[in-house]
Formats: sequence, C-alpha cells, structure tokens
Amino acid sequence: MTEAALRRAMVAAAMAMTARGLNQGTSGNLSVRLADGGFLITPSGITPDRLVPDDIVRMAADGSHRHARAPSSEWRIHRDLLRLRPDVGAVVHAHPTYATVLAIRGMAIPAVHYMIAAAGGSTIRCAPYATFGSQALSDHAVEALRGRLACLLANHGMIALGPTLERALWLAGEVETLARQYVLSLLLGGPNILPDDEIARVAALFEDYGPKSESS
Ligand code: 13P
Ligand code: ZN
Repeated sequence: MTEAALRRAMVAAAMAMTARGLNQGTSGNLSVRLADGGFLITPSGITPDRLVPDDIVRMAADGSHRHARAPSSEWRIHRDLLRLRPDVGAVVHAHPTYATVLAIRGMAIPAVHYMIAAAGGSTIRCAPYATFGSQALSDHAVEALRGRLACLLANHGMIALGPTLERALWLAGEVETLARQYVLSLLLGGPNILPDDEIARVAALFEDYGPKSESS
C-alpha cells in the first residue's frame, strides 16, 4: 500500500472503531509501520469524524516528527511495539467497555473460548496501571504483550497487534467479544476454562484456517 492509501485506511479504521463501539470520542489510537522503519500514527485529541488523511502524523522510528499536529499521546507505546516486535505491522489501542471493565478490576482474560488462541496464547494479560502517555505505560504494555498479540491496560483499555491494520482491527473486536463473554459467564457462576494443550491445538489449526492470500 502507498502511504496515501495507508492514511485513508487509518481514517476508515478510526471511524469503524467508533461505529463498532470499540471507541468513543477521542479515545484510542492507531499506527502502521512504513517500509523505511518509521510509522504513521493518528493525531492526538481528534474525533474520527473530523479526521482527514493529512492529519495522520508520520514519525521516524525514534518517535521524532515534523507534523503541525501532535501525534497520539500514546506514541511511545506505538514506537516501542513497532521497534521491538518485527512480527507486528500495526498497533490498535482502544477503550471498549467490556475489556475496560475487566481492566478496571485488573483481571486477565483466561481461556474462556477457543478464540483466545487468536491473541497468541491461553491468556490475555492485564498490564499494571500507569498514566496515559507515559513511558511506564509503554514498558508495562510491552511486557504484557510478550508472546501475545493483545493485552488489557489496567483502568484504561486494551491493545491489539497484527501484521496489518486490518488484522489488528479484527483482533481488537475479537478481544472485546471475549471480554464480553467472560464478564457474562462470571455473572452465571464463572466460566469453564479450556486447558493450555487445547489452546495450543487451536493455535496450530488457525495457521491453516480461513482464506489464503494470493501469495501463500
Ligand atoms: P490520543 O487522542 O492522544 O491518541 O489519546 C487517546 C487515548 O486513548 C490515550 O490513552
Ligand atoms: Zn487510551
């Protein structure tokens, strides 16, 4: 994709997140890695309905930029994850209600449904609380995402990663669905948890699941 196409896709993704109830107002942000090692990131404090492709900030790999708009306050999270995770091409941060409710309780999501394997393991961890935009929050997120593609952020929200923006966005929706299922199962007396070896089996099946791209 060209940079112009990526910018348009990021605006569409931000709009879709609001439409799907994954974000509201100015909550949440997105980034996509560029071929030169830099990345595109949504600007700070702009609602998706007012966002245009030129508002998207282009940052160098070190997080520097020359855009008139300020990048998302969470640019450290995006910079650090894109730098430390070569498997990741896009980072999505959101405050969807059920994932955030669990994060408010400091709870991880256990293997309540086999779809948790899509997040890279048998749990979705909850990173400890730190102030939004802080380096401490980024450090906690990097740790909670070790070997995973999603985590919760205590008293804040969640992060989903993917090789592409489309995939990271899809996973953000799946994590919110898992969170909703977990919260509701707790109300019915608590979930039955799938064992680790079953999640490993599902993860192996996922490698061959779904439509194949032209190149594979
Ligand atoms: P930004 O508008 O700066 O991206 O902040 C939103 C947010 O979710 C902070 O954690
Ligand atoms: Zn946030």
